[in-house]
Amino acid sequence: MSKQWVYLARNGKEAYAKILGHTPSLDEMKVLFGGKGAGLVNMTAEQIPVPPSFTITTEACVEYMETGEFPEGMWEQTLEAMKDIEAQTGKKFGDSENPLLVSVRSGSQVSMPGMMDTVLNLGLNDVTRAALAKLTDNEWFSYDAYRRFITMFSDIVMDYKREHFEHKLEELKDKEGVKLDTDVSLDGLKWLVDEYKQMYHAKFGEDFPTDPYTQLHMSIKAVFDSWNGERAVVYREHEGIPHTWGTAVNVCTMVFGNMGEDSATGVSFSRDPSTGEKGLYGEFLINAQGEDVVAGIRTPRKITSLKDVMPEVYAQYTQIVDSLEDYYRDMQDMEFTVERGQLWMLQTRNGKRTSPAAVKVAVDMAEEGLITREEAIMRVTPSDVDMLMRDTFDPEAEKTLVVKGLNASPGAAVGVAIFDAHRAQEAVAEGTDVILVRPETNPDDVPGMLVAKGVLTQKGGMTSHAAVVARGNNIPCVAGCEDISVDLIRQRFTAPGGIVIKEGDTISIDGFSGEVFAGAVPLVQAKYEDQVDLQTLLSWADEIRLAKNFGVRANADTGVDARRAVEFGAEGIGLCRTEHMFFDERARDAVVRMILAKEQSVRDAALEEMLPFQEQDFEDLFDAMDGKPVIMRLIDPPMHEFLPPYHELLEEVVKLRITSPDSEELQEKEVLLEAVVGMWEVNPMMGLRGCRAGIMYEGLTEMQTRAYVQAACRCAKRGVDVHPEVMIPLVGHVNELKLEREKLETVAKQVIEEEGIEVPILFGTMIEVPRAALTSAEIAEHAQFYSFGTNDLTQMTYGYSRDDAEGKFLLQYIDRGILPENPFQSLDQIGVGRLVEMCVEEGKAANPDLEIGICGEHGGDPASIDFCYRVGLDYVSCSPYRVPVARLAAAQSVIQHG
Ligand code: PEP
Ligand code: MG
Repeated sequence: MSKQWVYLARNGKEAYAKILGHTPSLDEMKVLFGGKGAGLVNMTAEQIPVPPSFTITTEACVEYMETGEFPEGMWEQTLEAMKDIEAQTGKKFGDSENPLLVSVRSGSQVSMPGMMDTVLNLGLNDVTRAALAKLTDNEWFSYDAYRRFITMFSDIVMDYKREHFEHKLEELKDKEGVKLDTDVSLDGLKWLVDEYKQMYHAKFGEDFPTDPYTQLHMSIKAVFDSWNGERAVVYREHEGIPHTWGTAVNVCTMVFGNMGEDSATGVSFSRDPSTGEKGLYGEFLINAQGEDVVAGIRTPRKITSLKDVMPEVYAQYTQIVDSLEDYYRDMQDMEFTVERGQLWMLQTRNGKRTSPAAVKVAVDMAEEGLITREEAIMRVTPSDVDMLMRDTFDPEAEKTLVVKGLNASPGAAVGVAIFDAHRAQEAVAEGTDVILVRPETNPDDVPGMLVAKGVLTQKGGMTSHAAVVARGNNIPCVAGCEDISVDLIRQRFTAPGGIVIKEGDTISIDGFSGEVFAGAVPLVQAKYEDQVDLQTLLSWADEIRLAKNFGVRANADTGVDARRAVEFGAEGIGLCRTEHMFFDERARDAVVRMILAKEQSVRDAALEEMLPFQEQDFEDLFDAMDGKPVIMRLIDPPMHEFLPPYHELLEEVVKLRITSPDSEELQEKEVLLEAVVGMWEVNPMMGLRGCRAGIMYEGLTEMQTRAYVQAACRCAKRGVDVHPEVMIPLVGHVNELKLEREKLETVAKQVIEEEGIEVPILFGTMIEVPRAALTSAEIAEHAQFYSFGTNDLTQMTYGYSRDDAEGKFLLQYIDRGILPENPFQSLDQIGVGRLVEMCVEEGKAANPDLEIGICGEHGGDPASIDFCYRVGLDYVSCSPYRVPVARLAAAQSVIQHG
């Protein structure tokens, strides 16, 4: 007997088990039957009614590819399988009364969407068409099916492209003056079928094949051949799928939902795909074919009312839905047809869902015991969580779509359209919500972008300047709206359909979908406290990551931020950027005096004035973080940022020299100018920053430490559980660290003595300079903790200044594929990451108690979080809004890597 090339779905699993000697797993079946075939076999084995089918194996295809012939016995086995299907359905291939029609579909081991071919309604000819017309009582439908079949067969089997047939159809529609295919007359369709046959004859010098078996033979061959079609080969090369696998061929009975009042067709989900609520969700139509449900010509009915018209079918359907969910352990998206009272499941797959639904379904399924908590965590993506932390448009609200572009940065925003960055800033200063609209953006637009609620651009892709800046700053952005035309002179844009949006008109942009709406669409605010399912999921995630001591902290500078961070689940503050406190209006004068001071006594006096403000802010932080660590980073700005810009000042001074040369104001401004000139640095990002400022400006970091330790002691006296940690930034040489640490420890000791209460304080450093990473063994001996400042570490490892790079060349680099992605968003694991890895290894070897975290922006990026876990970091720290994302991503890394 020849080898078994053909397997019936109804007993394929057992037949294959006999050959293997054990029950095949789904994966084993996929190898032989392809994904689709394995699904058909599996569902049939699970007693789910799928239209009878059989599968020709991938092995047969491999054999065919070698010889160009069907392998021996394959065709005979195919004919036998057809007989079996005929017996199962009571229909006959080519019959004039109850004809069997089949689909012939490709299906390889892994899904290759749209890459290979499918022929539907195979078995149609003049005789079977007439029978179909009678059975469906719908002649129009039978001709429509016939013309589609001729088109598909000619295209796929004979390579006579479908455009030729579509073109004829268009001609007919023009002649009849109709727009939709469905409006073509019956006579028109009859004419079209005749035309198609003639076209076929003219092209190939023979009639369109009427014998169903000839059609089947040719179609199977064509599906085999499609494995080596250009599209499929290119796709496999791109996806790394071996060319040797071959495709299976599935031959499946066609069923019809338009065979009378006892027939129907529908689609449904096992749970609501937008909310995740358990229960059937979908629609159906009586006496209709599948496309009618989606075409919107007839209004479908809610799936639940199938109970009223076909109670038995409905009962069977709900049972099947439950068993499919049990089997696939996920929400299902299903298509079904009822043909004369018999329910057939045509397709089931894991359903697409919104982010809220993804979370709810995962949590519910874990609680139902269908999946484990780990699986629930793995099923939700970090971007689902990100989405739940952002405002969205009310899905129920009425909207007027203006245009659709690229969903460049998520979030929903409403504001008035403003076409200039300066005007945007002015409008915002007056309290107006603004959407900045530009043809494209450049660095000059950044100030306007940063204050806008959202950004809309006509040009540019997902890595355009607008997209990158918006994503980096959590601003919703729709980019690349090629269908609009922005007119900066007239301050307006025009959109398709003659819509004109002028400066001052309110628009709404949806950075999740890329949609732009006219007017103000109501927003639904993301409220973490109301998101019970998300909280449940993240509490499971916490258990998993905390079992491995992988923490999540937040970067927060104020009590308000810190309280938010705690609400979102942060376990501490990984970075408080104290320079932000210096920008405080209350302390501003003192800050300037401190910088300008020529004598230490003047500087000390200014510092003394600044101290209470800092102390108050620190107390606020400790209060908010009761019981949790708070890392205070000593000041790290280029100092000139606290003084007026050079050019502005120079202009004022020059004017004053002319208009009021003796004024006090001039004197003051001259002093200021002198200081600004004195501080001028060619590259301030590599200048007097971080510990260098602390070392050079005597008293500055001492004041900060005093304020911080005083705050800690005073909070502790009030019963707050404080865990202060002082962090020294931008260390490049161990001596910098030693010097600063000694100085600060002395201050801390003093304060503790003065306050009369003991608080344990940790002293550590940031690792932001490559040299620090390279000399980790030395540095670790003088630090109790490290925190990777990967923003600076990336800048300095690449030798890019971030602000300049993103404005000038970085985006082009990404567009042109010179860099795979923006290294400021996702950590460059092989370059910067190598430094991190070495630094961790050598640091921990020198000081096993060293605690190591990351507080650069990468701390909120899932791929970077994964890296941090793999190289042994103790925690990640990110902005409060990203804390939930980080909690999930961290747990996913723990699950994946153990
Ligand atoms: C860093 O460099 O990664 C960091 C967190 O510090 P900053 O962004 O304040 O320079
Ligand atoms: Mg830094």
